[in-house]
Amino acid sequence: MKNVLTHVAGLPVPELARAYGTPAFIYDQAVVEQRISELKQFPVIRYAQKASSNLAILALMRRNGVAVDAVSAGEIYRALQVGYTGEGNPPGIVYTADVFDYDAMAMVKQHRIPVNAGSPDMITQLGEFYPGADVTLRINPGFGHGHSRKTNTGGEFSKHGIWHTEIEDCLRLGKEAGVTIHGLHMHIGSGTDFDHLATVCDAMVKAASRVGAQLEVISAGGGLPIPYHKDQSRIDINAYFGLWQRAARAIEDIVGHPVTLEVEPGRYLVAESCTLLTQIRAIKSMGENRFYLVDAGFDTLVRPSMYGSYHEISIAAADGRDITAASDVIVGGPLCESGDVFTQEEGGVVVSRHLPEAKVGDYLVLHDAGAYGASMSSNYNSRKLAPEILVHDGVPEVIRERQTFEHMLQFERIPERLRG
Ligand SMILES: *Cc1c(COP(=O)(O)O)cnc(C)c1O
Repeated sequence: MKNVLTHVAGLPVPELARAYGTPAFIYDQAVVEQRISELKQFPVIRYAQKASSNLAILALMRRNGVAVDAVSAGEIYRALQVGYTGEGNPPGIVYTADVFDYDAMAMVKQHRIPVNAGSPDMITQLGEFYPGADVTLRINPGFGHGHSRKTNTGGEFSKHGIWHTEIEDCLRLGKEAGVTIHGLHMHIGSGTDFDHLATVCDAMVKAASRVGAQLEVISAGGGLPIPYHKDQSRIDINAYFGLWQRAARAIEDIVGHPVTLEVEPGRYLVAESCTLLTQIRAIKSMGENRFYLVDAGFDTLVRPSMYGSYHEISIAAADGRDITAASDVIVGGPLCESGDVFTQEEGGVVVSRHLPEAKVGDYLVLHDAGAYGASMSSNYNSRKLAPEILVHDGVPEVIRERQTFEHMLQFERIPERLRG
């Protein structure tokens, strides 16, 4: 029956739940490697680690020849821990941000991390603490994609990047600051809309023509979509690559020498590799509506609550019985917060889902939880962070242990006068 399953990453669900408890993130290494191989046409794949920044995932990327993007000092620190450096061509790590905080400044300076600057101020500041640095410009081409302010990465209401008419000013700033602007970056995310993508590519060619001969690298950014709905089709990577390759060729004609084309996916590489395993702890009715309440909430997976994102949901019977019936249910979590519902649409509209008939104790699996899942989770309601498990060739290994209460409280202090 639809949306019933018995195994995750090749392993029986009840076995995984017994071994690691619930909720737990279960990653399948083979899926990550498959997605990497699909992008191999690109000369450089740079993983946007904020999608899932676990050290083991970063080590897996590095093993597969994937470079990494870091958006904070902490992400640079993570990348360094698994052996990436800021050296090489392409550099192992690039720092992308719209600001330098003091931590990031220290990290970039100490480890000579190339910078992808999203504001003119960063160019001036970089010149002060790291003269001679290589820098690329993140350009806002003046338009974005999509209708959500929370996910739009271009246009006048986006805080990201350098406005497209300020490229000449930035080149001048770079010269004054003593840093070399040698690349351009656009992270717009066209989804599967190739007409829109062609517009982004045209904007990149136009921007490149204003930089001229000093241009050596262009980055297509990330934003490659995955089919969160089972009936959505997969992006045509050949067509996607084709458009960017054509833009790169046009740019090479303009600047008179080869340029390196980078792609910078987060979601595409990891989203589908991971399922969030939960257990149904209560089933109840509210008037006409039936609820499955599970032991993970938006502290564990925030995308539905934050963006109204859709995740496919399956049920695994705890006792191995055949499930043959289904009904409409709402799936919620344990948090004291009405927005703690996995079946909701943008704007917080709660909807029901046609799901297999489950019993308390059965397992409920949220699919495609690998991107912006564990990395966005929190301790809200003082709940422990869920463990992450990586499965390779049928062998599961813990890559992040379940947090402990001691760990959760370790940095809190009670002033002497309030003790006892
Ligand atoms: C988040 C981000 C990405 C990755 O976005 P996805 O939609 O996960 O592919 C790439 N580049 C930058 C600069 C980002 O901030």
